[in-house]
Amino acid sequence: MTIQRNPTREVVIGSVTIGGGHPIVLQSMAATKTYDIDATVATVNMLSSSGAGIVRIAADTKKDARALASIRQETEANLSVDLQENYRLAEEIAPYVNKIRYNPGHLHHFEPQLPWQDKVKYFADIATKHDCAIRIGVNCGSVDPAKQGKFDPEDMVSPMVESALEHAECLDSIGFSRFCVSLKDSNPQHVIEANERFAAAKGDVPLHLGVTEAGVPPDGILKTRAALIPLLTKGIGDTLRVSLTVPNVQKFEEIISGRELLDDIAAGRTDVPDLEAELGRLNIISCPSCSRVENAAFVTLAQQVREATRYAADEPFTIAVMGCRVNGPGETDHADLGLWCGATQVNLKRKSQVVGAYSYEEIIPKLLEYLNRLIEEKEE
Ligand code: SF4
Repeated sequence: MTIQRNPTREVVIGSVTIGGGHPIVLQSMAATKTYDIDATVATVNMLSSSGAGIVRIAADTKKDARALASIRQETEANLSVDLQENYRLAEEIAPYVNKIRYNPGHLHHFEPQLPWQDKVKYFADIATKHDCAIRIGVNCGSVDPAKQGKFDPEDMVSPMVESALEHAECLDSIGFSRFCVSLKDSNPQHVIEANERFAAAKGDVPLHLGVTEAGVPPDGILKTRAALIPLLTKGIGDTLRVSLTVPNVQKFEEIISGRELLDDIAAGRTDVPDLEAELGRLNIISCPSCSRVENAAFVTLAQQVREATRYAADEPFTIAVMGCRVNGPGETDHADLGLWCGATQVNLKRKSQVVGAYSYEEIIPKLLEYLNRLIEEKEE
């Protein structure tokens, strides 16, 4: 059986095409240092041979950009580059990749005096010149502050949808149609709402689906299924990633989980997991890691947090564990307790307030101390 799909535009990304009724493409991302060419090539090829139609690599520096030129020589995989703050790296990287992903929420950091529309036009020009597609990748933890300020702080979905629509309209208005959009959140319900609203407003644009910071398996798999089954069964979604906090050598598990999800939907096995029944009320979110991870111990720490907090499974709190300073500080703001992991220390936050920085050995007892405080305060 095939999955019925919304009629979206075709977007060519190297040797694959998303949208236009083409099979849903699975994606994953390398978590190696991008400048470590051999390790990154090995990961890209491992993911590609596992069934990833597109493999994403982060690039933040000129050293990363130079590495991509060498990586391109050593793999046939369709490559997507993940740009964050230094958007001007696009011109150095585009010759070696098939897709450029930018985050509208990061465009204000660099050259803030320039209108964001000029930056989008720059991406379109670079992508056209180098035969690349674009992904507008909106993320709940890094929405454009100007956009967030327009809405109720509790409304996490509207700023994402408006930002994605605005950028999609901008690309269309300058005649660039070879793009897709993603609207990712760590809350599966927000992912459903955001993608449904975007698809209702601009249904011809292909959508890349995923739950960000879904966490360690099996939590990350269940959360992704809880969000993506309702969307895919409505025909929404042209490509997807199951983001899992696993060591780089196990990244192929993202592809296996994605394949199982698509096979289940095609076979009519579309029961949506009851997350509270399966995982309890304590919500642990953790990023899937990427080249920006500052200490590989982050993945082990995320697993330790999951195990050490099982005694509090029924408590209505969220703990966020993030792997770097690029997204860690912002994406822990909404969690009751947040850990963002530096090279030697882990920063502990209570909502947006920093509590302190602790070594990787000290952090679990400290986290439990604060979790127990939250439980006591709730009971008073
Ligand atoms: S939080 Fe940092 S390390 Fe984790 S996926 Fe995001 S950018 Fe990568």
